[in-house]
Amino acid sequence: MEFIVLIIILAIIFYLLSVAWPFLLLLVAIWILWKVYELYYYKSSSFAEIKQRVTTYINDCNELNQHIESLKDTTLISNKTDYGEASYQDASSWNYKRKHLKEEKYAPNVHQCSRTVCSNAQKKPFEYICKYFGIKATEETLSKFEAILNNFEAAEEGKQHLQAEKEKIIKSIETDIPVLIRKLSKKKLEQNLGFEEMDMSTAYFPKYVFQYVSSGGNASTHCDVTMDIDNLNRFILFLSEKIKFNKSAAGQRALMTSKLRQHIKERDGFTCQLCGASVEQEPHLLLEIDHIKPISKGGMTVEDNLQTLCWRCNRSKGSKF
Ligand SMILES: [Zn+2]
Repeated sequence: MEFIVLIIILAIIFYLLSVAWPFLLLLVAIWILWKVYELYYYKSSSFAEIKQRVTTYINDCNELNQHIESLKDTTLISNKTDYGEASYQDASSWNYKRKHLKEEKYAPNVHQCSRTVCSNAQKKPFEYICKYFGIKATEETLSKFEAILNNFEAAEEGKQHLQAEKEKIIKSIETDIPVLIRKLSKKKLEQNLGFEEMDMSTAYFPKYVFQYVSSGGNASTHCDVTMDIDNLNRFILFLSEKIKFNKSAAGQRALMTSKLRQHIKERDGFTCQLCGASVEQEPHLLLEIDHIKPISKGGMTVEDNLQTLCWRCNRSKGSKF
């Protein structure tokens, strides 16, 4: 049956080719002309002049892009010594944008378990993540997850700012770019202007997977818990309820949640406390929350120890330590 369908399709194609070849030839000619024009335009001096005008802004965008990538890099929680039966293995089938990321970074933490554990994990995911991925409710763990939230939320905000800034730059030169190039060569235009490719996907969010596979391998179910911003916020609250805090921290410690991040920014008037850059001057400025005395040096998550920094200052502060 399939064979007959194939024959019919081939027959139709041959028929079209024999009748419509002048038309196809015309299409090919138009396509070649377009490619030549495109190539010519990007090599032209008028394009070079436009590029020159916006190059500083584009470099700034690319730097922010790299910064966002480093924010996403925040190490995952994996108490390997305490891992029990859990094992690392890439069982995902989503498409990775870049090959080198496929290897380790975004691979979910997978726990092979019984059907019962798998279905119970669905009901109480946080309890089960702690239990089966060796995550202890301690102040240290809490701090790590708070750092992850702080960085990931900045990364997500940074992505939005970057996108907006990119659109703004392209809009500012819009009238100087030929309509055809603007409409038909959008991606190439960005590349030729010098924009690095942005990764807008959220595949970097850590993922905990409970997976049940029957002994024969025929049946399998899994429960995936993605630690996105919402789940990280909830997980931080969940952990803090379980922790018996030290006397020094008890009662006065704040939790680094989305709410607190917003609060600190408002308190500081959406202004970098080091260089004074503000959202008022730069609407797409990425602001981050910084521990004045770093956690690693005994600093605490309390309002007095938190400040708003722009991403540039935060980045250079980070590299000093
Ligand atoms: Zn600054």
